[in-house]
Amino acid sequence: MTIKIDLHNHTTFSSKCSILSAKELIAACQSAGFAAVCVTEHNTMRGAHLSVELGRGMGFTVIPGQEVTTADGDMLVFGVEEEGLEGITVDALCVLARERGGVLIPAHPYRTSAFSLGDKVMEHKGCFAALEGLNGNCGKTENRRAQDTAKKLGLPCTGGSDAHSVKMAAKYFTTFETDIPIIDSAGLIEALKKGNFSAGMIDVRSGS
Ligand SMILES: [Zn+2]
Ligand SMILES: [Zn+2]
Repeated sequence: MTIKIDLHNHTTFSSKCSILSAKELIAACQSAGFAAVCVTEHNTMRGAHLSVELGRGMGFTVIPGQEVTTADGDMLVFGVEEEGLEGITVDALCVLARERGGVLIPAHPYRTSAFSLGDKVMEHKGCFAALEGLNGNCGKTENRRAQDTAKKLGLPCTGGSDAHSVKMAAKYFTTFETDIPIIDSAGLIEALKKGNFSAGMIDVRSGS
């Protein structure tokens, strides 16, 4: 089966930068026909876990993750429950993720208006399950650079809205080809490790 999951979002539960409630996010992804949505607050799992509970009540799968502000740039992390990891080196986070059986995906690696890994993804490519090739806050050129780099490194691309408002919600996603439905963190991690997915988007943003 082919399913869509938005892998990158911030809610008012734990992200001060967001005006998007988890309820609005879930409703948007539900009506877009996505199979699930990931909540990835900055350096905490709290908002994600609260969103999982909320999703349960709304009959929609929410998968918890976090966006860690590493010493070299933002990183989407699944399967690591530790809090307050900001400032950690990519290598240390890589070791931790391996210990926990989790996965790392550099967020918006070439976005210039945010803290991003850029070409440092090359040095650590063995640590990553994918690169975020479509990010809702990136311009076309920035996303293109991420996709080109992923191709060069032989890594697949994920897509995520990186939504902070209703307007931005449920626009970017990752399409998985999978035999098993993805209903939780373990399932998502397994699918990410398999690599059978690609990045997609609903709106076509104009601009650079
Ligand atoms: Zn970010
Ligand atoms: Zn983000």
